[in-house]
Amino acid sequence: MQESILHSYTNAVIITINKCMDIIKNGYITVNGNKIIDIGTGEPKSGGITIDVGGKIIMPGFVNAHTHMPMTLYRGIADDLPLMEWLEEHIWPAEAKYTTEENVRIGARLGLAEMIKTGTTTFCDMYFFADAVAEETEKAGLRSVMGEGILEFATNSFEHSKAALEKAENFIKKWSGNKLIHPAVIFHATYTCKKNTLIKVKEMAEKYKVPMTTHISETKGEVENVTYEQGKNPVQYLKELKLLNNKLTGAHCVWLTEYDQKDFAKHGTSIAHCPTSNLKLGSGIAPIPDYLKKGINVALGTDGAASNNNLDMVEEMRLAALLHKGNTLNPTVVNAKTAIKMATINGAKALGLDNIIGSLEVGKRADFIIIDTENTFMTPIYDYYSAIVYSMNSSCIETVVVNGKELMVGRELVTLNENLIVEQVKSLKIMQ
Ligand SMILES: [Zn+2]
Repeated sequence: MQESILHSYTNAVIITINKCMDIIKNGYITVNGNKIIDIGTGEPKSGGITIDVGGKIIMPGFVNAHTHMPMTLYRGIADDLPLMEWLEEHIWPAEAKYTTEENVRIGARLGLAEMIKTGTTTFCDMYFFADAVAEETEKAGLRSVMGEGILEFATNSFEHSKAALEKAENFIKKWSGNKLIHPAVIFHATYTCKKNTLIKVKEMAEKYKVPMTTHISETKGEVENVTYEQGKNPVQYLKELKLLNNKLTGAHCVWLTEYDQKDFAKHGTSIAHCPTSNLKLGSGIAPIPDYLKKGINVALGTDGAASNNNLDMVEEMRLAALLHKGNTLNPTVVNAKTAIKMATINGAKALGLDNIIGSLEVGKRADFIIIDTENTFMTPIYDYYSAIVYSMNSSCIETVVVNGKELMVGRELVTLNENLIVEQVKSLKIMQ
């Protein structure tokens, strides 16, 4: 279905994720252009084409609040290692050799195909050659919050932080106002950006009124090193630089002190919780139930495919719901409803897009997924949230719609050639 045609999806169970968490049975959702213009029960009021979904579930697409999409090229390149050894001895050397603009495009297409197939409709990306990533994303039809990843040292995309800042600013100017690409200021971490660079980051975000994201307190070692170098931990250092505000999302935040947590809540700073990456790199378990209790907005991210090793938000949501029960010996924490919100509306809020995505409501963009319920995983269903979080896997996601346009129908990708993408990645022969 093309984005300009008035059409309605009928006979659906609509999981709205609105304020009241309404579930509409025998519901319809009417889309005009890229917007939802009506949601209700029974027959749609507007004319236009009708698509009977046969009792399937329609819910908002997932928001992956932290990833490095083109790193799909490095999926499984170096596993079972601690973060700094993994980064310094494997990831950064591989990136120095293979992260060219052309390879970034190929990796991006692999990531985009994977995200569509697993129901993600919006992602926040931190990587290099952001223009190339944005072009591929726009072609594939996904929504993204992104910018050139800023850090101090030379990469294949820029020579030094000054050039990174320039590229980042040009990216914002170029993509501002785009329907799908929402520019942001993306800086790697407090341990990879000098103070002067961080000050410029803050000025840029303020000048263009865009969101920001960075890695914060991912490992104990990071917190110790930043404390040694700056006399305060990463959160307090960011606060001193006036970077801790409601425009900022901190990825990971495994090691926040009580004081840090209160500051996050007070300043409206969001967290992109990445449980798989934190477990895989042995970084620790972020005390998410404590963060939620303090009123911090917690979203979910997969991190890059090199530390996950996939971009599947269904798995991430399930792990987030299970992990903290085991960790706190309390099966009531991060319940299914909370986990779904973390994977949708909380992500939208973190990225400053909750006015247009994250829930299915009149006036918002038509970004949603249709879930097949006629399969073993989804049979029987006693509670919809529980079925989606604990029983479903991404193979149940049948259709993906972003900005009113279908990107996958019946598990077939519409905008990308999956076989070609797989062949292109294989032909790179990385590390062979
Ligand atoms: Zn990351």
